[in-house]
Amino acid sequence: MFRSKKSAVSISIPRAALDSIFDECDKYNADETGGRLIGTYCGKSRSYEIKVSGVIGPGPNAQRSGTSFFQDGSYQEEVFRSVEARHPEVEHLGNWHTHHVNGYPTLSGGDIATYRNIVNHQNHNTDFFYALLVVGKNAGRGSRYDVKHYFFRRSDETVYEVPPSDVRIVECPLISPHEPDPTRHNAGHSVDKRQSPANPERAKDKEFFDEFYPELKALFSEKIGAPYWKGPLTLVDGSTVDIVAVESAGGATLEYSIITSPDNQVCTDAASAYKERKFPAARHAVLRLEKDLNQVVYRNRK
Ligand SMILES: [Zn+2]
Repeated sequence: MFRSKKSAVSISIPRAALDSIFDECDKYNADETGGRLIGTYCGKSRSYEIKVSGVIGPGPNAQRSGTSFFQDGSYQEEVFRSVEARHPEVEHLGNWHTHHVNGYPTLSGGDIATYRNIVNHQNHNTDFFYALLVVGKNAGRGSRYDVKHYFFRRSDETVYEVPPSDVRIVECPLISPHEPDPTRHNAGHSVDKRQSPANPERAKDKEFFDEFYPELKALFSEKIGAPYWKGPLTLVDGSTVDIVAVESAGGATLEYSIITSPDNQVCTDAASAYKERKFPAARHAVLRLEKDLNQVVYRNRK
């Protein structure tokens, strides 16, 4: 079940991320603890480059014992949305948790079942799940703790252990969930408050997506200074493609463009035609793209 050769995955993780993980470990020497790993990735077919850029803590309502750990999901979701509002490129890459307290040197059967469920879930944002496991505490020299890295793929039963030679520890600052963030309380549902100029399409988009596409979330990007919609679009064959519909000022009126996650092979051609296209509202962009992608899927059926 475990396989350490040819995972075709490389991971880079800032030393500061490991330090923040180890700081959390220092607080719990009898109970398991953990958190979420966020960052970016690029993936071509089976090979992935994972770049960790931040860590989200377990949250105030996490539940721990010597052999189990449950994260505070709603806290982590709120923190993630606030990070995402400033860094739209950031994704949830996976989780980390500890076993050094119970001495179990690898993922448990329960861990594997949980991560498989996550990676195969239709609303999961990527086709992989990265799990970092803290397996031992070091007294004295070297790193404070020993860690292992695991990689799960959608529709693949194998648990890949990523060998240390494919993990790079880099010196760079973390995206901090605790940076002051004026958009924090706007992420998710209060985009309307930021209208500048007033755009009635935003309210119509919101009503439409809330009712028909609840997986798409309204967010605000400080970086581009505009609201956008992000989430998975489910196609006729049950596959999903991640989309982002971004608002931009085109002269006197606002317009929308739409992009898809770059690694969906089937949809790349159809979606690339959308790079230059502009739409009067986000819902127009989403509906057109969905229709075109469904046609591609239908034509390519076996
Ligand atoms: Zn575990």
